[in-house]
Amino acid sequence: MKVAVFSSKPYDQKFLEKSNQNQHELTFFEPRLTLETASLAVGFNTICVFVNDQLDAKTLEKLAQGGTKLIALRCAGFNNIDLKKASELGIIIVRVPAYSPYSVAEHTVGLILTLNRKLHRAYYRVRDGNFSLDGLLGFDLNKRTVGIIGTGKIGVIVAKILTGFGCKILGYDLYPNPEFKTMGGEYVPLQKLVKQSDIISLHCPLTPETYHIINPETINNAKDGVMLVNTSRGALIDTKAVIKGLKSEKIGSLALDVYEQEADLFFEDLSNEIIQDDTFQRLLTFPNVLITGHQAFFTQEALTNIADTTISNITDFEQGNTCTNEVKLEKAVANR
Ligand code: NAD
Repeated sequence: MKVAVFSSKPYDQKFLEKSNQNQHELTFFEPRLTLETASLAVGFNTICVFVNDQLDAKTLEKLAQGGTKLIALRCAGFNNIDLKKASELGIIIVRVPAYSPYSVAEHTVGLILTLNRKLHRAYYRVRDGNFSLDGLLGFDLNKRTVGIIGTGKIGVIVAKILTGFGCKILGYDLYPNPEFKTMGGEYVPLQKLVKQSDIISLHCPLTPETYHIINPETINNAKDGVMLVNTSRGALIDTKAVIKGLKSEKIGSLALDVYEQEADLFFEDLSNEIIQDDTFQRLLTFPNVLITGHQAFFTQEALTNIADTTISNITDFEQGNTCTNEVKLEKAVANR
C-alpha cells in the first residue's frame, strides 16, 4: 500500500520502518493533517495519522477525492474523526486500541508524585544551591482517596499502582469493569466520587457525554484542595473553569498531559515563538500546575506496539482480511 504518514517525527519513522520491513511504501510528512495539508495525500490510498490530525468532514472529502481508502490511526482515541462522514465516503478507519496502558498509567502516577512532593521545583532549587523546604510541603498518599473516572485498561492500572501506596480507590464508569472491583476498587456515582476524592484522575474517552466532565459544578462539589489529573483528552476539562478553581484555591493542584487546544502547541519546539494561547500561558503561571506535552504514551514498548499494530492493520486491509481494529460507526456510538 502507498501510505502517507502525517505528523511524523523521527521516532515515528524509526519505529514504523522497523515494523514495516518494506511491506508497504511509507512516505513521511512532518506537517499535521489539516484541510490545507490534505493535498499531500493525493495518490496515497492510505493515510496514517495521530491524535492531533484533523479529520473533519471537509478534510475527509478532500482525502476521498485524492483516493484515500484507509485511515490508519496510530492511537486508540478517534475523537478527532467525523466517523459519519468517513462512513458515507466509504473510508475505512483502523486504530491501535491498546499499545501499552502501562505507559500512560505510570506517567499518571509520576505526575501525581511529582506534583504532590514538588519534585519539579525541588530539582531546580537544589541545582541553584537553594536548600529551603518552604513551599515544598506534600501529603502522604497512604489512606488518601483517589477517584478514577473511566476504569478501562489505563484506569485499572492506575488504581492498582495506587492501591500499593495504600490509597482508597473509588471509580466511576458507564460500563463497570470486574477487574476494578477485584483489585479492591469501589464504584460510586460521579457526584460521590467528586465529593470524596483527594485526587481525581481522568481515564475515560472524549465523547459528547464526557466533554467538560470537569466543569464549574464538578469543581464546586469537589473537596477543597483537590488534586486534578488529566492524562486522557484535553476537552474532558473546562480549562477556564479550572483556572478559576486554581485562583480560588478550591483546586489544590493540577497535572495535565493533555490540553483542550493542544493541537496548536504540542509535539513542536516553540521555545523561540510567542505563544498566543493566553489560557495555556495562564496555566503555566501557577506554581501548583504541572504540564507535560502529551508524552504519557511515550515509551519504547508503546511505540513498538503502535508501529506493529499499524502495519498489521494496513496489511489486513490490503489482503481483504477482517480487521479487528476497525472503528465501526455503529459500535462507536453504542460504546458511548
Ligand atoms: P479504555 O477504552 O480501556 O477505557 C475507557 C473507559 O472509559 C471504559 O471503561 C469506558 O467504559 C469508560 N467510559 C466511556 N464513556 C464513559 C463515560 N461517559 N463516563 C465514564 N466512563 C466512561 O481506554 P484506555 O486505554 O484506558 O484509555 C483511556 C483514555 O486515555 C483514552 O480514551 C485516551 O483518550 C487516553 N489516552 C491518552 C494517552 C496519552 O498519551 N496521554 C495515550 C493513550 C490513551
